[in-house]
Amino acid sequence: MIFINPDAKINRDIPNIGLAYAATHYNTKVIDLNTMRYPKDRFLNYEADVAGISVKSLTYGESVKIAELYKAKYPNAKVKSISGFLDVQCCYPYLDFEEKIVYDKPFSDEYPFPNYELFDSFSLFKKNWQRKVWSYAIMTSQGCPYQCIYCMSRNRKWLGRSAENCFEEIKMAKMRWGISSFEILDDCFNIDKQRVIKFCELIKPLKLGWSCANGIRADRFDEDMAKAMSESGCKHITFGIESAIPEVLEAIKKGETIERIEKAIKIAKKYFRGVAGFFIIGLPKSSYERDLHSLEWAKKRGINAHFSYYVPMDKAVQFDSLFYGEGAKPMSDEYPKELQMRIYKMTGSMRPSGKRNLLRELLAGFKS
Ligand code: SF4
Repeated sequence: MIFINPDAKINRDIPNIGLAYAATHYNTKVIDLNTMRYPKDRFLNYEADVAGISVKSLTYGESVKIAELYKAKYPNAKVKSISGFLDVQCCYPYLDFEEKIVYDKPFSDEYPFPNYELFDSFSLFKKNWQRKVWSYAIMTSQGCPYQCIYCMSRNRKWLGRSAENCFEEIKMAKMRWGISSFEILDDCFNIDKQRVIKFCELIKPLKLGWSCANGIRADRFDEDMAKAMSESGCKHITFGIESAIPEVLEAIKKGETIERIEKAIKIAKKYFRGVAGFFIIGLPKSSYERDLHSLEWAKKRGINAHFSYYVPMDKAVQFDSLFYGEGAKPMSDEYPKELQMRIYKMTGSMRPSGKRNLLRELLAGFKS
């Protein structure tokens, strides 16, 4: 059996963690076309009874192409998708082919530590981890108990590993691969205060720099947490703010107030070299003027602001109603239709629409 990670054209420095867990469980080699792009067709050099492909909405078209090519060269092979419990990128759900390789134990301390040596791109990872160019990526938890309407993670129950288990993985990565920093990719790292503080105490002696790539919640952040995080090597912090307008926060069910966010920023500025916020333009109850106000608000508070466009999402994310697919409906009409259309077209390569029938036909032939 071999596993294939298609080229997603983004996050080349971040391994496909869900795939890494599955590969570790099955002790299977991974052809990683996202981090090591060339030769593009090298997966065809590996004849296997089963080729498992990681299929995300972002890589759907690529995955179908790979399946076709593999099947054409090795007609007796089965091509399956890899279906895992861990969905690392909250914005890009994993999809499934009809036939699947399943590794769906709920995320916990019982997971093995991911063995990235199984990736054929491993030497790139190792070199860049050691040279401080890339950070080692880790998931310490998955899911979130909050209900922000634009976020996929709201549908996933929060499941956290223990602080000790996460520390052991990072210690192993430092001893074995010489990592010099790490980044936490959790949907929301700071749900459990005691777990965060314990984790910080444990990793402090490792003297590694670290950060939380997806931002943390301001209303779960306080002075104790700030002190523990900064003393253990976290020098930059980002909050998921989304908007500085109270009505917008209410409309998106953010579950926190602008006053509480301001309080967290004040604390963070005492402890961290850099403080930033993630914002989203075009949210329900927002407008061009309101989004500009959020930008001014961030400037006044001296924080870096990262803006992204609001992605329309249908509530039920299923095969036929992906948030980018035909079933998706914008939840905000605040931006003019022409602008929405331009953004929709610009993100065309991310949509799997139009490929579904082709995939079904293709897989129907695989069922022998
Ligand atoms: S708090 Fe963060 S992770 Fe949780 S639902 Fe809201 S945006 Fe998503």
